[in-house]
Amino acid sequence: MVSAAQAALDSLELPWRSAFGCAWQSAQNGSVPVGAVVTSADGTVIASGRARSMETSGPVGVLFNTTIAHAEINTIAALPPKGYPDHTIWVTLEPCLQCIGAIVVARIGTVRFAGSDPSCCPSSSIGGDIPRARASRSIASKRPR
Ligand SMILES: [Zn+2]
Repeated sequence: MVSAAQAALDSLELPWRSAFGCAWQSAQNGSVPVGAVVTSADGTVIASGRARSMETSGPVGVLFNTTIAHAEINTIAALPPKGYPDHTIWVTLEPCLQCIGAIVVARIGTVRFAGSDPSCCPSSSIGGDIPRARASRSIASKRPR
């Protein structure tokens, strides 16, 4: 028998399932449960990452044991340095200012997040227009359906 939670997870698009899987790994390792993936224009997951701020070790090329070891940063760090205007980053929690900055620098065209974070996030606590005004492209925020 499939639990209601599992059924809800199974009903999500693949990028959401992957991002929530990353978030679950963070929780299991004592970090803030946030996960992220980047998809190409055709929807293929090309990078994934998770928060590792409370972990004392991790693979080469990812941040851990620091307050800036957010899921978006570790996901973007896995990407070669080129633009991604037709790509989407899927994040389980609304990106903070640091991560919005990284997303803009990485030139990822679309941001989708599952949950709002009114305690620290630009689109809900500041109004959302600051990152958009500084970006030369559209950053759309959409929640999973
Ligand atoms: Zn962040």
